[in-house]
Amino acid sequence: MVVQDPDIVQAAKRNTEKIVPLYYEMKKAGAQPITKENIYDSMILAYVGGNIGQISNDISIIWNEESCENRLDVVKLLCMENNYTIDFAKTLYKPVRPDQIHSMIHRYTKKKVPHFFVYAKDKTEAQVEPINSSPVNRLEYIIPKIKMDFKTQSLGKFDPKMLMRESIVPTNDITQKIIETYGTMSKSDAMKAGRDERGVPRSLYGYQKIIDSLLEICNDIYFVTDVLIKELFIRRKSKRKNIFWMCFGDIVAENIKRNIGRKTGMCVKCGARFYRESNRQVMCKSCAAQSRKISNRMAQRRKTAKKSAFKKIPETVVAQQVYGK
Ligand SMILES: [Zn+2]
Repeated sequence: MVVQDPDIVQAAKRNTEKIVPLYYEMKKAGAQPITKENIYDSMILAYVGGNIGQISNDISIIWNEESCENRLDVVKLLCMENNYTIDFAKTLYKPVRPDQIHSMIHRYTKKKVPHFFVYAKDKTEAQVEPINSSPVNRLEYIIPKIKMDFKTQSLGKFDPKMLMRESIVPTNDITQKIIETYGTMSKSDAMKAGRDERGVPRSLYGYQKIIDSLLEICNDIYFVTDVLIKELFIRRKSKRKNIFWMCFGDIVAENIKRNIGRKTGMCVKCGARFYRESNRQVMCKSCAAQSRKISNRMAQRRKTAKKSAFKKIPETVVAQQVYGK
């Protein structure tokens, strides 16, 4: 990873102070002739003894500890062990931990994996340590939890006009020519040939040729796109629009971004997107109706309260209130 963020550069400098490269003498098994049997044996050994997952997890466990003495030493040992493991298939050599080193490493690594493994490795809360303030764990607080909701109900009704630059498209010789040319070209053998297994043409050249031919008829790509949207989405309700998307998807995306800002707003109450009929409109239709109902009711209540304040209270009631029963 290459970053030039000043905070990260500063933190990296701070954390690598007095850190030197890990050095140790790398051993290897004795030389062997390359035979089919030996190649087979080392392949088997690579599968059996080449697993760095557990050691890497152990390093994560120690790294997650906020303070513990000689944790850096343990990380160094495990790094070395990892390197031996990575090279094991070539070197056929792996050191055996001395007893006191093993118990030192084990003292740290008997804990569960850090809390962020819930996200990194789909662990359950029971399989991880409680959350602490180690750097990776803190990401949980920084990254907002957004629930993606793709239920069609909450997406509202699809409106092809949201894809268009101008909502009114004329019908004339030029628009007819655009529609006809698109129709013939998208059905041509050149576009049919070279499709992948889902039927999507592979050739970018084919798409470019369609775009170029349509721009020769009318040199306004937004207009051409609008004409085709009206034809494919509104008039013909065509099911297959792959070629259209491949040719004009970027223009449609641009139009949508523009339309969302200009034509619609987000309801301040329920968050739904609504068509703006005036610039002052801040709520969707149903929320606006509801809030109008509430404010009418409130006004009514205030009126009644005012009236009753002026109503003369019978003297017996006043007497009861003052003297009790
Ligand atoms: Zn609303």
